[in-house]
Amino acid sequence: MLNSLMAKLIPFFPEKLVWIFSKRYIAGIDVNDALAASRDLNNQGAMVTLDLLGEFISTMDEAKKNTQDYLDLMDALHGSGINGNLSVKPTMFGLLLDKEACFSHVREIVQRAAGYNSFIRIDMEDASCTSMEIEIFRRLKVEFPGHVGLVLQAYLKRTPEDITGLMDLHTPEAPLNFRLCKGIYVEPATIAFKQYDQINRAYVENLEFMFKNKIHAAVATHDALLVEKAFELIEQYKVPKALVEFQMLFGVTPKLRQTIIDRGFPMRVYVPFGKEWFGYSTRRLKENPAMVQHIIKALFMRG
Ligand SMILES: Cc1cc2nc3c(=O)[nH]c(=O)nc-3n(C[C@H](O)[C@H](O)[C@H](O)COP(=O)(O)OP(=O)(O)OC[C@H]3O[C@@H](n4cnc5c(N)ncnc54)[C@H](O)[C@@H]3O)c2cc1C
Repeated sequence: MLNSLMAKLIPFFPEKLVWIFSKRYIAGIDVNDALAASRDLNNQGAMVTLDLLGEFISTMDEAKKNTQDYLDLMDALHGSGINGNLSVKPTMFGLLLDKEACFSHVREIVQRAAGYNSFIRIDMEDASCTSMEIEIFRRLKVEFPGHVGLVLQAYLKRTPEDITGLMDLHTPEAPLNFRLCKGIYVEPATIAFKQYDQINRAYVENLEFMFKNKIHAAVATHDALLVEKAFELIEQYKVPKALVEFQMLFGVTPKLRQTIIDRGFPMRVYVPFGKEWFGYSTRRLKENPAMVQHIIKALFMRG
């Protein structure tokens, strides 16, 4: 109740106040902030994936502008020598306005990344986008086999079927490359697991399938139990380090992150940045008010 109330109220707080707790989770406003945070993370032994904040848009002009911003970001990242890649949310490029134009925009970004021998991860958004985002990934994986990956959400009941449905694209030269997360949106129980244990069970089953089938898996979680389970499966299936990495969000569980780096496994940190940080922070809260407790904790633990 309190979380929901706070999530509704926070958008009306002054930006400066919201920034106090958001800054733990957001690298800054512009590209230079993101690159500085990324350099820092590289020095700590972590790779990065950059996310230029934006999300839902209402015109295709905005989609075009976001595409250009991402192309510029790709150039800047390449020029910086930072060990990192980019994550994209298709709704930023018009997924819900003009699916085909959105595909062309995302394609342009993946093409630029492929030219730099880099990689684009397609984030997974809410369930209204799932099939369309899988379809975009499918088309791009065919054209740019080693340069594009997808996010899958363990809470969605459809995920095992989605994975098997993509297996025809899986080759030893260019394995499928999935980031597996629990899923952040609030979805109905008809399509999504709702309980912690159910979601974790589904997470482990999906991850086991990936390891068994030599799919490149990015284990994206801050849940220490799942991290341990992932290590057990890596041992069981003798997964080479080239086929696995751990991923965490900027500012979340840095101690757990360091223990994984210390064990010698690849770690990548998701680094959101951009002037749209206020909308991003408040939207995330409305989507999932349980996040408020982390934010309130961050407010009192700052400094
Ligand atoms: C790299 C990365 C990319 C992601 N991409 C997507 C995506 O494309 N689509 C999507 O739907 N979701 C995405 N997510 C979010 C994900 O789906 C989960 O909502 C989020 O990671 C929380 O789940 P968890 O696995 O950490 O487990 P939880 O059970 O939620 O959390 C485990 C523990 O982690 C800590 N923790 C978790 N979140 C926070 C926080 N914000 N602040 C402080 N502590 C925290 C707490 O100690 C908590 O007890 C991504 C997550 C990561 C790490």
